[in-house]
Parts: sequence; C-alpha cells; structure tokens
Amino acid sequence: MMIQKSVCNMPFLILHVHTPMKLYNTRTRKIEVFTPITDKNVGLYTCGPTVYNYAHIGNLRTYVFEDILKRTLVSAGYEVTHVMNITDVGHLSGDDDTGEDKIEKGAKREGKTAWEIAEFYTNIFKKHISLLNITPPNVWCKATDHIKEQIAQVQTLIDGGHAYETTDGIYFNTTTFPRYGEFARLDNQELKAGARVDLGEKKNHHDFALWKFSQPEETRQMEWEAFGRMGFPGWHIECSAMSMKYLGTHFDIHCGGIDHIPVHHTNEIAQAECAGAHHPWVNYWLHGEFLLINDGKMSKSEENFITLDTILEKGYSPLAYRYFLLQAHYRKQLNFTWEALEAAENGLKNAYSKVKSIKNLIEEQKKDKIYIDWIQNNKLGNNKLENDKNEIEIYYRQNFFEVIYHDLNTPAALALLWDLLTNKKILPDLIYQTVLEFDEILGLGLKNVKLESVEIPSEVEQLAQKRLSARKEKNWGESDRLRDEINRLGFDIDDTSDGQRLVPRV
Ligand code: AMP
Ligand code: ZN
Repeated sequence: MMIQKSVCNMPFLILHVHTPMKLYNTRTRKIEVFTPITDKNVGLYTCGPTVYNYAHIGNLRTYVFEDILKRTLVSAGYEVTHVMNITDVGHLSGDDDTGEDKIEKGAKREGKTAWEIAEFYTNIFKKHISLLNITPPNVWCKATDHIKEQIAQVQTLIDGGHAYETTDGIYFNTTTFPRYGEFARLDNQELKAGARVDLGEKKNHHDFALWKFSQPEETRQMEWEAFGRMGFPGWHIECSAMSMKYLGTHFDIHCGGIDHIPVHHTNEIAQAECAGAHHPWVNYWLHGEFLLINDGKMSKSEENFITLDTILEKGYSPLAYRYFLLQAHYRKQLNFTWEALEAAENGLKNAYSKVKSIKNLIEEQKKDKIYIDWIQNNKLGNNKLENDKNEIEIYYRQNFFEVIYHDLNTPAALALLWDLLTNKKILPDLIYQTVLEFDEILGLGLKNVKLESVEIPSEVEQLAQKRLSARKEKNWGESDRLRDEINRLGFDIDDTSDGQRLVPRV
C-alpha cells in the first residue's frame, strides 16, 4: 500500500526504508520475500544472447528487466555476482534438437567464419546493452570457452545413469528425473502426449540432447572431440555447466525470457539437479514477458524484429527505449509501436528538462542569502528544511522503494519520479539528490544532465529593465503586464532584496 502524501509538520526525523524485497518466483508461482542464501551476497545468472544475429529490441527488453533487478538488489545493499553467458555454439534452429546450428547458419549467410560471426554479434550486443545503460555482468562466459566443463557435466550424467546415446548424440533421459516438468507445470497428460509423436531414437518425447555428434554430411567449423566422436554441446548444458562453475551448486536467482520456462530452464534444472546440484538448484527464477509487435511476439524467426540500430537511425535515443520499457511491468506483455516510442522520447526529454531546471534553481539559490540561511543554519525560525526532508523520506523514498521492492514495479516508480520532479514546494537540492538516488535503479541517465549556462535573451533583459522602471513609477498594471510577457518567453522574475532576478521557468 502506498503511503498517502502529506505535507507534514512533524519534527525532523529520518525514516529509513524498511520495506523487504519481494519477487515473483516462477518456481513457486508466488510473490515471495527475497532471502539470499548467504547474508549479503547474491548469485545471479541471466541467460545471454545467441550471437548469430542482432539481438532485437524484444531480447533487449529481457536484459533491461534483469538490469532493474540487479540495480534494485544493489540498492538494497546486496553484493551481486552477476554471470551472463554468450551462446556461441549449440543453439539449434529447432527447439527439439533438430535443425542447423544458428551460428553456423549465420556464418553461411554472411560468408564469414562461425568464430567471426560470434565475435561480431557479441561486440554489437555489448555495445547495445551499454547504450541502454545496462550494467555489464561481473562474468561474461562464452560457451566455446567452457567445452571442458560441459563435457564433464555430460559425463557425470552418463555415469549417473541419466543419459543414453543415439546415432546423433547423447540424450538426457527425462524419466530418470521424477521432478521433470514440475517447474513448467507440465502435467502428466502433457508429458504423455509426446508418446504419440514419432520419437526416432529418443526414448521419451521430452528427452533432449546434451551433446550432439557432427554428422558425416555436415561440415562444422565448431566441433570438439568427446565421447569417441567429433561433436558439440547442446544449448541447455552450457547454461547449467557455466552457472554451476561460477555460482556453485546452489545459488539465488536465475532469469530469462518467459519462453525459457518450458524447455531451456526445465532442462537446465534436470541436468543440474541430476549432476549433483542442491534441490532446489536455484531459489528464485524470474522471467520477463514478451515484447510484441503488431500484437504478436517479436522474434528473429518471424523476421518481424526491430534492432536498436533502427531505433537510433530513426533519431530516437536508446534511453527513450529504456524509458518506454519501464512504463510497463516486466511481467506484462508490451506492444511496441513507433508512436509509443515517440511519446517515451518526449517523456524522457521532459524529465531531462525538469532536472535541468532543478539544477538551475539550485545554482540560482546558491547566490541567495536567504536560501543559504535555510540550508546552513535554518535560522528562519520555520521548519522548512525539516519538513521537506520528512516529505522526501516519508512519502517519496518510502513509496518509491515500496513499489520497486514489490516485484520491480517500474511504472509506479516512474510515476513517483515524475511527482517529485514536478514538486515545486520542496527545496530543489533535496529533490535533486533524491531523483539521482531513484535513477540509480531506473538508469535513465539523469545524473548526466548538464547545466548549460542559460543565456538570457536581450529581449527578456529589456523587458525586465522596463518592468523595473514601471515599478519605480508605481505603475503596477504595466509591471504585471511585463511580467506576463517575460513568463511567456520562458522566464520567471523574482523580486529579491538585491533587486530583480531572472530564472528559467521550471
Ligand atoms: P536468444 O538470443 O534468442 O537466446 O534470446 C535472448 C533472450 O531474449 C532470452 O532470455 C529470451 O527469452 C528473450 N526473448 C526472446 N524474444 C523476446 C521477446 N519478444 N520479448 C522479450 N524477450 C524475448
Ligand atoms: Zn540459458
């Protein structure tokens, strides 16, 4: 529940934010209080991109939500160890372990080597997330740099009786893991339904490849010798092998897009828990909903995707896209339109100009003796500073952290940011500090807003001089008319003990 806004006259009191963090856990299908395994450290694994093409803005939605999660954890005082993989081998075009390896396919498409393709799109991905102000992980791990770990995990599964060999690879036997399908709530009927389809050499419909053998008719650029043949890892094994290498057999949070629940994450859990991980292997699983376009899923295979480069070419700023995303909760579908992006661009520009005006006011007020008294000595005999601090603490900070700690409610957090940016009563220094604190989580680049020295146009200066003369002549009607004209030109005029002062309008 949001705390109601009130201008309170209570004596100064700092109210620390005590709200516990709550997250929607796919594993339990509940919003739960977040409690890390060890006191202040959080292990976070986020499934990274398959680098055969540009990440589209739908993929980037998932990385922005994960960034909000990470920034929120950091703001709550946790030390986050964030690991993200780069899938540069083994992700096949069919979810059923069939079809071509996406990287090898990309190499053919572009007449480059598979290694060049992976490097090229990895670099673009890193550039794009940086443009979106997404903080990079502590560990980037490439699947091709961790072949040894993946082979070792496959071997453990073979040794534990969880895997079998076919002519085309080594498969995980899902019947050896009784909890298989629990995570995705695949019911018995659904699990059995697979029995009607042609299984080929697979024993059960949901069995999946841990390792694939290179086929005689294909020439692969990325292949390794293991299990007596040349081959390459399955997509799911890379995430369980690498996350366990860097975060251990029991860690806090694992994230991805919602499409990962029924196959990729279900299979990762089966592999990890059968290869010796704790149960549950990961305590909290968080999934972001899809970005849609024309009300359908944006996806590379549908070829209906937009990249960040297209957004930039059309003259929008990358952070306008971030702002657009924050207007929706990460567990709600969001439809992309250019009109909505345009509105987000305007919203962000307005936020920047509000921040600029606040900085301007601070600069102006620094010159003001009365204001310095307020801030430094609070000599004015009123409780303005205390009251303002209270309002920031009790209303703005408390509510902001309450909504963001309640399963990352960014739309409500943005609304509070706006409420604060447009508050004309609270001392601007306090507003500015608090806005920057909120932006540590929102990541909209508000601290980079520069204070340009505002040029006062000569027309405005002249009107101000005329107004001064009118006031000396006690011509109040003319003085008011001139003030209105100055306001229309974007300036306020303050009458201080030192004379008139022109201030850009907030
Ligand atoms: P990929 O590179 O295909 O492995 O996808 C990278 C991430 O983007 C995964 O976490 C996917 O679940 C996620 N993803 C894919 N399509 C969308 C979409 N339209 N909206 C949001 N996330 C998506
Ligand atoms: Zn993954």
